[in-house]
Amino acid sequence: MSIETKDKITEASKITFKDGKMIVPNKVAIPFIEGDGTGPDIWKATKKVLEAAIKKTYKNEKEILWVEVLAGQKAFDEKKDWLPKDTLDTIREFKVAIKGPLTTPIGGGIRSLNVALRQIFDLYACIRPIKYFNGIPSPVRNPEKVNLTIFRENTEDVYSGIEFKSNSDEAKKLIDFLKSLGHTVRAGSGVGIKPMSELGSKRLVRKAIEYAIQNKKPLVTLVHKGNIMKFTEGAFCEWGYAVAKSEFRAQIATEEETNINPALGSEKVLINDRIADSMFQQLLTRPDQYSVLATPNLNGDYLSDACAAQVGGLGIAPGANIGDEIAIFEATHGTAPKYANQDKVNPGSLILSGVMMFDHLGWSEAGKLIVDAFAKTITQKKVTYDLERLMTDATLVKTSEFADIIIQNMN
Ligand code: NAD
Repeated sequence: MSIETKDKITEASKITFKDGKMIVPNKVAIPFIEGDGTGPDIWKATKKVLEAAIKKTYKNEKEILWVEVLAGQKAFDEKKDWLPKDTLDTIREFKVAIKGPLTTPIGGGIRSLNVALRQIFDLYACIRPIKYFNGIPSPVRNPEKVNLTIFRENTEDVYSGIEFKSNSDEAKKLIDFLKSLGHTVRAGSGVGIKPMSELGSKRLVRKAIEYAIQNKKPLVTLVHKGNIMKFTEGAFCEWGYAVAKSEFRAQIATEEETNINPALGSEKVLINDRIADSMFQQLLTRPDQYSVLATPNLNGDYLSDACAAQVGGLGIAPGANIGDEIAIFEATHGTAPKYANQDKVNPGSLILSGVMMFDHLGWSEAGKLIVDAFAKTITQKKVTYDLERLMTDATLVKTSEFADIIIQNMN
């Protein structure tokens, strides 16, 4: 599988959409951002594993034409631009991309390149599957009970960036305005806005329910703090039930409905809701009762990392940011700059993000091959430093060796 420049890619290798359905050619062009710091190491390992799985599963029937696009430090060094227009145009044109971690530029007005990508492409669903691999060191007693997929709303909530500094003119004006509405905010407060819309909430819950139906998951839980924030998080929950009932009536049943008719629970995707703080408790005490979580932005941020820690942490947690047409698959950890170019860190997060990308493309057989080989490599205790130091009798391997062993284990 080759690395091509954009101008060599023909129309036949581009992903297209017809009536809302994605059409993926067998020889498909996928842009990649290798990432900063340890990015090149984990990308090299990931590319090898993804290519081996395609070859093994589909012989020569399917192929990826990789198109490198620049972002982060590499883009700045070469083009004096952290996120070049050409990169954005290419991702927009090819629809599906994969990326390593990117350095957050200090100064220069860019808050985070990842946030910028999500906003520019309106990637409103952040998807984080959380699954335990046997043998991975975990801080909890039964990590194998965790098998969840979190759908986190990615564009609204307190992440909207509408915040005013304490004592600024804007904060004072807003406090005065709130006073005119009958609300007292202590003078000198910093103030922020938490917008949550019907459109934003419904499209996120819709994606979560579609995923549950397609993947035969039994339950979608709406996680909110609506008991306190009635018109934002409470509304998220109401809109979630509304989209479930209006668009998926034949395939779903609400918890309330199954209380009346328990038989519905075994036939349909169950929709329930939980208050966020109780969700944190229950994911520790009885995680096996949950399956797909649909959450507003902040709850999802906290929950994804807390759940990832339960199954062995950062180095192996994959993720995707998805919109209506464009999807970017990415390592969820940062650039770990102190280990750059040492062939040392765990490439698991990016490899498993590649598996998510295969599922998205409809190439799930190749994804399954990787997951099985990955699981086997862990049970053989051939692992990178982050896991080796927590396991007994494990063999320490480099990033590249870990990839090679996964490929051997595909046999
Ligand atoms: P980090 O994730 O890079 O590192 C946190 C800790 O986790 C470190 O101890 C590191 O050694 C370890 N770690 C991270 N990835 C690992 C892996 N694959 N295998 C083994 N150990 C791993 O977080 P940070 O130090 O806060 O951030 C460094 C840079 O990355 C910053 O510029 C930050 O803005 C950026 N960042 C980018 C992303 C992204 O691109 N998605 C996410 C988070 C942080």
